[in-house]
Amino acid sequence: RAKESGRNGFQYYSQELTARAFDRIPLESGLYYAIERGEFCLHYQPQFNLQSRRLRGIEALLRWQHPELGMVSPATFIPLAEESNLILRIGEWVLVEACRQMKDWLEHGLFAGDNLMSVNLSPKQFDHPDLVASIARILSESGLPAHQLELEITEATLMRAPEQAIDVLFRLRELGVKVAIDDFGTGYSSLIQLKRVPLTTLKIDRSFVTGLPYDSNDVAISRAVIALAQDLCLEVLAEGIETEVQHNFLICEGCLNGQGYLLSPPLEVSDLQMRLADWQAAP
Ligand code: C2E
Ligand code: MG
Ligand code: MG
Ligand code: MG
Repeated sequence: RAKESGRNGFQYYSQELTARAFDRIPLESGLYYAIERGEFCLHYQPQFNLQSRRLRGIEALLRWQHPELGMVSPATFIPLAEESNLILRIGEWVLVEACRQMKDWLEHGLFAGDNLMSVNLSPKQFDHPDLVASIARILSESGLPAHQLELEITEATLMRAPEQAIDVLFRLRELGVKVAIDDFGTGYSSLIQLKRVPLTTLKIDRSFVTGLPYDSNDVAISRAVIALAQDLCLEVLAEGIETEVQHNFLICEGCLNGQGYLLSPPLEVSDLQMRLADWQAAP
């Protein structure tokens, strides 16, 4: 388990929500209709190559604009959706929308042919027998090249049933999509298993970036993940970079990619489009 981050970052979601989050009933019933009512949208957080400052890609982050509660955090409603099979429909909506949007941006020349769209998959989605077929269908319907889609699964998802997971990952690789392990660094003992697993990226969990460079445990874990990624020829990306010292430390340690509030918060479509030209022009 990731340790809890002590920071609050942006005051992003409504205050009211915190109190009401314990009252699950209105959330659960509202969630059921949220797709058809058009209450979901995606925000996108850019990921950069920390050394060249070049844009690597963007991570799609789901947002729910609740009619009464305002913006509800995915940390609140994804676990609820995960308890029912709603997460499958929601996850499919996210994939379809993210692929459609990226293809549209590519056609308008806003992204390059090697920029990535990263999409989070929940454990239930990953375990579903139709996952690979449905990704293949969504790619072909959207026209997004497979190599520009990166799926983020958590370490926990991978480790629950490693043999099945590895089989799915091989099929995803055959399809040509990339796979990142999100929130990595928590299941230390399982690192060794990764040798056999077809992956592309390790994302260092934000909870370990928070304490850099002062917390010696965070330093040790970040170093270990960076070294492991190098040994396995995987990309490594640090999430939750908030300060210059974290940023500089990660560069010195050889972590090539990062995302976080220091570089940019997640942005709604219009804000992202406004800033893209700058980032794409960066040295
Ligand atoms: P995650 O995939 O690890 O995404 C990173 C989270 O950290 C995002 O929170 C992002 O806004 C936040 N973040 C980014 N940079 C910083 C930073 O510098 N400091 C701090 N304190 N936070 C930062 P968000 O958008 O609230 O999403 C929370 C989690 O909800 C995600 O964690 C992911 O696990 C889940 N999630 C979001 N969208 C989806 C989705 O479409 N499907 C699924 N299954 N899960 C999703
Ligand atoms: Mg993620
Ligand atoms: Mg993450
Ligand atoms: Mg995280």
